[in-house]
Amino acid sequence: MSSSNSSAAMPDTNGFFGKFGGKFLPPQLEGPFAEIDEAYYRIYNDAAFIAELREIRHHFQGRPTPVYHARRLSQANGGAHIYFKREDLNHTGAHKINHCMGEALLAKYMGKKKVIAETGAGQHGVALATAAAYFGLECEIHMGAVDIVKQAPNVSRMKLLGAKIVSVEHGLKTLKEAVDSAFEAYLADYENSIYCIGSVVGPHPFPVMVRDFQKVVGIEAREQFIDMTGNLPDVVTACVGGGSNAMGIFSGFLGDPVDIYGVEPLGRGPGVGDHAATMTYGTEGIIHGFKCYLLQDEKGEPAPVYSCASGLDYPGVGPEHCYLRDAGRVNYVTCSDDQCREAFFQTCRLEGIIPAIESSHAVAFALEKAREMGNGSILVNLSGRGDKDLDYVIENWGVGDSV
Ligand SMILES: *Cc1c(COP(=O)(O)O)cnc(C)c1O
Repeated sequence: MSSSNSSAAMPDTNGFFGKFGGKFLPPQLEGPFAEIDEAYYRIYNDAAFIAELREIRHHFQGRPTPVYHARRLSQANGGAHIYFKREDLNHTGAHKINHCMGEALLAKYMGKKKVIAETGAGQHGVALATAAAYFGLECEIHMGAVDIVKQAPNVSRMKLLGAKIVSVEHGLKTLKEAVDSAFEAYLADYENSIYCIGSVVGPHPFPVMVRDFQKVVGIEAREQFIDMTGNLPDVVTACVGGGSNAMGIFSGFLGDPVDIYGVEPLGRGPGVGDHAATMTYGTEGIIHGFKCYLLQDEKGEPAPVYSCASGLDYPGVGPEHCYLRDAGRVNYVTCSDDQCREAFFQTCRLEGIIPAIESSHAVAFALEKAREMGNGSILVNLSGRGDKDLDYVIENWGVGDSV
């Protein structure tokens, strides 16, 4: 599953992308994570593993997902041609299933009986519960008690899919506490289980593993785009929460003369607690067992974050993104809630596609860039569909506003 690009030699054997990444774990967790590391590098190039993953992608997930020319949206924004890589058409409605099927397949090859993870908004929990059901694995999802109430529909989905939900009742009762709780549960049962992360974050080998499972997005998109147009796109863009959908599509184009933009949520503005624009406002720090740019207070504790897109409100960001930013290869920009809302409605009404609020951040950047460029082409990774966001949209944005 390897491909030649400028980050193919990354990370080093300790999991560092330059100075970012690594494995910052309490001593008792080092052994279990080393086992995952060893197993991943032993298994991921195995022909049978690759063949099974390909089969799953084709017959269960519905890959390849198409690349689509958004003509009306392009026309309305008077310039460059905008294209979507339709990850919203994956089974379960977003790109997360790409790495969850890979992680669960790895669990099967390692002889594990159970997958354990935390979830914030519930999207990772739903995708992992789907993968666990497919393989007949037990699935235990740790979730803050506050998030369980906020994300009731996803909690029901996970239960329908057979997952056990562990309500985390200490601290702020949100994602950070859920991570600690999932790590503890994994430590208590690592012989039977495997921990599965939801993005290109966490201790090594997860940033590289999740990137490798998401690479299919970029590989497909590059080939499809060239088939359709005869050329490479001028610009490739994706939203960045932890950074998995972005790493997936970016990795296909890192070796090409293509401008690449990651879009982070500016939320309500630049004040502390009003956004999750890690690259713009963060400083080096450690979260979730790895080093990255981090929104943090003076003590190194993660700062509060906010975005209208619950999948983007993470105070850290994947280490490879940090490396690519410092290397000058990828640009990181921001998009506010208001800009996102405008792009969301335009995509609904001009294209007949209800995008995820996360993905709408990347669309918003593409609209602005299209107007500025005047011609050329922009490929957007449409990471997910917006059905999950309807309650939020109806309550906060309405459905009858004009574009
Ligand atoms: C979770 C999610 C994201 C953000 O996660 P990344 O790891 O940054 O890709 C983006 N879009 C959708 C639809 C999501 O569900």
